[in-house]
Amino acid sequence: MPYQHHFADGTLIDLPLGKVVCVGRNYAEHARELNNPVPSEPLLFIKPASAVVPLSDAPLQLPAGKGKVHYECEIAVLIGKPLSGAVSSEQAHKAIKGVGLALDLTLRELQDQLKAKGHPWERAKAFDGACPLSVFIRPEQAPGLTELPLRLVINGEVRQQGSSAEMITPILSLLQQIASVFTLQPGDVVITGTPAGVGVLQPGDVLELAIPGALEQSAEVAR
Ligand code: ZN
Repeated sequence: MPYQHHFADGTLIDLPLGKVVCVGRNYAEHARELNNPVPSEPLLFIKPASAVVPLSDAPLQLPAGKGKVHYECEIAVLIGKPLSGAVSSEQAHKAIKGVGLALDLTLRELQDQLKAKGHPWERAKAFDGACPLSVFIRPEQAPGLTELPLRLVINGEVRQQGSSAEMITPILSLLQQIASVFTLQPGDVVITGTPAGVGVLQPGDVLELAIPGALEQSAEVAR
């Protein structure tokens, strides 16, 4: 089934799926595990709507023959109102329609090659299926934006565990900085970076993603 935004209770969210704005290296420990410097301002890139698939409806199809596919579990923020130019933290807060979970799937070997050449990352990050997205909870159902816990379990083993409290650029500030670069439109999604613990996905892996206490979602990698 094609992806559409939904709340966790099944309600359809009447917003078109737009772009997905992503931030790299927003958790210092993750930047270090890939031997990357911690950036002085958010490192932004975009996945097109065509990269988005539902996280849980069907097994995730990984690209074949292109090297290792890494998982990156991230907190996703659904934008409900336009944000453009200089926006206040309060405007950014009011524009949040939902909070959910995403996988920023990455062809890591290809990304390393592109980085070495100074080329854009799209070939490694924007392919069809590169952004599985969960359903969303309403912001008032989520713990505070500055203390959202995040956890990824694969085949029963905790692989990633973090909190938005560890973000280098916190969520509202991130939205403000993104809006100053390009307009966020209703239906766009911002994925907010991944904590340490990224690794390779294997066929048949069973994933449990959670904002513990608020949202739990499972996914499976196709065999
Ligand atoms: Zn990421």
